[in-house]
Amino acid sequence: MPVADYARYCEMLDRARKGKFAYPAINVTSLTTANAVLKGLAESRSDGIIQVSTGGAAFASGSAVKDMALGAVSIAEHVHRVAERYPIYVALHTDHCQADKLDKYVIPLVEETERRRAAGKPNLFNSHMFDGSALPLKENLDIAVKLLERFRKNELILEIEAGVVGGEEDGIKASAAAKLYTTPEDTLEVAGCLNAVQGARYLLAATFGNVHGVYKPGHVKLKPSILRDCQDAVVKKYGEAARFYLVFHGGSGSELHDIHEAVDHGVVKMNIDTDTQYAFSRAIADHFFKNYDGVLKVDGEVGNKKAYDPRTYLSFAETALAERVKQAVNGLRAAGTTMMK
Ligand SMILES: [Zn+2]
Repeated sequence: MPVADYARYCEMLDRARKGKFAYPAINVTSLTTANAVLKGLAESRSDGIIQVSTGGAAFASGSAVKDMALGAVSIAEHVHRVAERYPIYVALHTDHCQADKLDKYVIPLVEETERRRAAGKPNLFNSHMFDGSALPLKENLDIAVKLLERFRKNELILEIEAGVVGGEEDGIKASAAAKLYTTPEDTLEVAGCLNAVQGARYLLAATFGNVHGVYKPGHVKLKPSILRDCQDAVVKKYGEAARFYLVFHGGSGSELHDIHEAVDHGVVKMNIDTDTQYAFSRAIADHFFKNYDGVLKVDGEVGNKKAYDPRTYLSFAETALAERVKQAVNGLRAAGTTMMK
């Protein structure tokens, strides 16, 4: 049993919230990066989540094709095949998809899952994110409810976002700071709308000062206590069953005490991209700088085939990414928690 099915994915999320740990959700863009995540998870005996962004999926389909849905299918099919060889469960997820990209990304992937289910095959993905955080909350939730109804029929879990995660595109200007914090009122709206779709499951990316990318210390003021306030408000109004399963976006570069506090307040999934991108590239840079005259044909020489064979440096990168995944697993208290017997 390689990629978790719906029941196992639900169990993974339940165990995490109850046990106060979280799964790393690592963005991948290729076979090598996907393999690296599986290796890191397996070596730390943790289940986890592999996710693909719209840009990462377009990249995976090839620069001449640039079809995000196709690239996501390719990566997911690869993971379904190789994950059987690893002693952990992995779930497959698609990252941020804004409303204007739904028709090119999430919907074709849901259709793919529907075709597979009709043919008696397992789902391709376990969950998809719809990011309507740039829309007014009501519009965001109207779209989310429609998606959730369709997801429920297909045993898919929806991730939504309320509040805005800052980052490269949004900048980190002080004037924008207010939008970086979800309010308990916002999350009550979320619960009111989405809990009406009975029997469906969703994850909520609430924002508490997070930004995408890594910033130098002092730039980012995380307030994980916002997550506690949101949980308290929703439980008070709708009861314990409404307690959120939260997602931590823009977590790269966060301090451990903030990560732990967020996990204590119900974060079950932490997205990691920037830190693993760096780990991957760092290993390649190291190889190229150390083997300058091997990877290049300098002064009429012929270089060193072993040094410029992409397998050489991509294996270093794979190992480095896997090590970074293990570090993430430890920070999220997930080491040794796999459900695989
Ligand atoms: Zn994000």
